[in-house]
Amino acid sequence: MPLISPWRADFPAIDALQRQGQTYLDSAATTQKPQALLDALMHYYCNGAANVHRAQHLPGAHATQAFEASRSKVSHWLNAADSGQIIFTHGATSALNLLAYGLEGVFSAGDEIAISALEHHANLLPWQQLAQRRNLKLVILPLDAHGLIDLDAASALIGPNTRLLAVSQFSNVLGAWQPLPRLLALARAQGALTVVDGAQGVVHGRHDVQALGCDFYVFSSHKLYGPEGLGVIYAGNEALPKLAHWQFGGEMVLTADYRHAEFRAAPLGFEAGTPPIASVIGLGATLDYLDSLDQRAVADHEAQLHKRLLEGLQQRDRVRVLGAPELALVSFVVEGVHNADLAHLLTEQGIAVRAGHHCAMPLLKHLGLPGAIRVSLGLYNDSDDLLRLFSALDQSLELLA
Ligand code: PLP
Repeated sequence: MPLISPWRADFPAIDALQRQGQTYLDSAATTQKPQALLDALMHYYCNGAANVHRAQHLPGAHATQAFEASRSKVSHWLNAADSGQIIFTHGATSALNLLAYGLEGVFSAGDEIAISALEHHANLLPWQQLAQRRNLKLVILPLDAHGLIDLDAASALIGPNTRLLAVSQFSNVLGAWQPLPRLLALARAQGALTVVDGAQGVVHGRHDVQALGCDFYVFSSHKLYGPEGLGVIYAGNEALPKLAHWQFGGEMVLTADYRHAEFRAAPLGFEAGTPPIASVIGLGATLDYLDSLDQRAVADHEAQLHKRLLEGLQQRDRVRVLGAPELALVSFVVEGVHNADLAHLLTEQGIAVRAGHHCAMPLLKHLGLPGAIRVSLGLYNDSDDLLRLFSALDQSLELLA
């Protein structure tokens, strides 16, 4: 039985890509965009762009109103208590760097930061560099045999010296939900701050940051069917005052003279310079679109498609799936075949997948692999996309035999 995505037509690029002979299976890297977002961008740019929070004129007022309405939509999407807890950045990477610089004052030499062995470089390197700057210890929580952060090891490693825990919600390589509630509880019991990298998790289902109980939750708009150049930080009320101002310039300042300045509180105090206004407005429109979908139908579709992807790969000799992927993405290697060679042949057949270390070099090294192929799904994919993938994979493997 074919599995059809009822939302495919809402994403004009999917059709365009198909006309170019491309099957897009790289949504974990970035997603295609819904028409609702394109309409919002057109509307904003065609009706008068203006800077936000500074102009008295009418276009400025309209832009500011739309910008702040988007902040409320993001807050609602995450079930934050207050839209003032939502800070816009230029991506998940810049959000995590903002945290690693803004929280620097919380640490003293010898304190520990705990991250996991599967982190994306964006949630490893800012903490690694902070640890080097402040003479802190970076503690790496190991994984269990299923590719999940090992809770027994975590409970031994998260201790009184742990000042901060920063972990992914959903692995961009292993496609598994991490045991966040238990991990966050371990950190909270030690009075440590908690940062959740939701870059992959935010895309699947709805997540309630208050129920999760993390101090900071971070994601990128472009992976959630929104525009690029925009990231989000949710900051809990208790943690927010611990965040020092990091980037300085226009808009974040309250008063300034040549020798001294005072800065605004969050969120504007952390949004120095002109923000990505169109992207913020576009993300609001994207969330309206996503909110209008039948969430259960989306979850069912994603689950069924994932099952077919996983089964199809597992049925093929020599294919070894990494970890125990639960949803939306599967990474694999083929015995005796270099991932770059296979990626090349798939690319030649119009299959757009990702190959390499997936910005998680330490994890791939730990798995003893130079790289892997990752197939990732969006809500617009359907079973025909998978059939094209499997057919291209079989042809490639025949050639490489
Ligand atoms: N964290 C995870 C788990 C990711 O998968 C990514 C991107 O692939 C990032 C962080 C960084 O996101 P961005 O490149 O949008 O800043």
